[in-house]
Amino acid sequence: METATRAPATSTKARYVPRGRNQLHTIFDRHLDEFCDVYDEKYAAKYGMFRLDRIRDIGERFLTCGDYRLGVARIRCTNPNCGHDYFRPFSCKGFYLCPSCSQKRTLLFAEHLTNEVLLDLPHRQFVFTMPKALRPFFRHDRRLFAEVSRLIYTIIAEFYTAAAGKPLLSGVIAAHQTFGDQLRWNPHHHCLVLEGGFDEAGRFIHVPLSGLGQMTEVFRRRLIWLLVEKELLAEEFARNLLSWKNSGFSIDNSVRLTDAKSKESLAEYIARPPLSLKKIRYEPFKGKVLFHTKYSDYFKENVHLFDALEFLAELTQHIPPRRVQLIRRYGLYSSRTKGRWSRMPHVAAKAPEGWRASHAPEPSASEDPGFEPLDDGEEVTADARKRAWARLLAKVYEIDPMVCPKCGWEMRVIAVIQDPVEIRDILAHLVKTGRAPPGFDPALLN
Ligand SMILES: [Zn+2]
Ligand SMILES: [Zn+2]
Repeated sequence: METATRAPATSTKARYVPRGRNQLHTIFDRHLDEFCDVYDEKYAAKYGMFRLDRIRDIGERFLTCGDYRLGVARIRCTNPNCGHDYFRPFSCKGFYLCPSCSQKRTLLFAEHLTNEVLLDLPHRQFVFTMPKALRPFFRHDRRLFAEVSRLIYTIIAEFYTAAAGKPLLSGVIAAHQTFGDQLRWNPHHHCLVLEGGFDEAGRFIHVPLSGLGQMTEVFRRRLIWLLVEKELLAEEFARNLLSWKNSGFSIDNSVRLTDAKSKESLAEYIARPPLSLKKIRYEPFKGKVLFHTKYSDYFKENVHLFDALEFLAELTQHIPPRRVQLIRRYGLYSSRTKGRWSRMPHVAAKAPEGWRASHAPEPSASEDPGFEPLDDGEEVTADARKRAWARLLAKVYEIDPMVCPKCGWEMRVIAVIQDPVEIRDILAHLVKTGRAPPGFDPALLN
């Protein structure tokens, strides 16, 4: 289908959006309206019903991301002899679609996991995949992802308890992803698994995970019966599936996580968005998207040319519905148990640095006789919170925005500006002084 001949020029003109901040913005700017117009008719059957409002909402918000004309924060150096300042636009927070917002969030997540969550004990990464025949169920009922996460945790906890001969409290972070190569629908789970757990006496029992073949078989059978129970699979078909020689299920555990660096890069990997801008090139003349990737067995090629609408269909299928969580924590890492770490000295001793810095040890009874502490030491000091934010912000921006690049003093947000007239004056001034925002077209001021 030739989309270029009916590029939606009329409908996009009405929208107050600059063009060309990045290629994805251009694609959405030129094709989102048309895509939404035909979604129900052409794409809903394959990509999911009742998704149009959600797609339109996230897509339109994405188009406003980084748009200076919708509002800016003014940030200025606190050094009175310097006065360096700059403006920063608001972001859309359209995670899983917006590459720039997703990148920030991914970095924050990785930082949080390594500094505040993962215990200083051996972990392993597992990737759970399932056969093609089962994948469409996950497209049409995304709550299934949560059930599979919970199933994986249950299997691991049961294995540890059986292996150790006593109950062990372990921890798992499970993240589901919906995409494979070139945006194809490929639901799978990434799990960061603590290799072992604490017994009742508070001793850590290391249980190296072995027997992957058997683990895969347990996962396979339990997942199939879960789908039967939910009446998604007929029993007969389930038996048939179980008789397949090549089950199509797999578990990969090749990555063992020892140091903080490997934990952090893995955390970034499992929270990454479906699309990296580096992989696409938009051909505006033909309305096509050229997608580069490593060689794909499926497409038998390492570049694929998408029609723009087809590209949007493939991309937007990965937008999760409202309130669907992508990352879940279990056992020691569940928020409920984590809130009690301070009262679990054996766990606290293995807690990551960031957590320990913000959780002062409780005064021991001998030093502090005579009264009961009122709380369990969970209160994080204001100072620790401030340090934590500074660290997080430094990770998020290439250049720490709170440190002046000219003099090294602290920088602060001094105003948030949303008045269109004021913003226009600011932008005109920036253009005149050669400080126009990247990708900003001065013609838009006229
Ligand atoms: Zn954004
Ligand atoms: Zn300065």
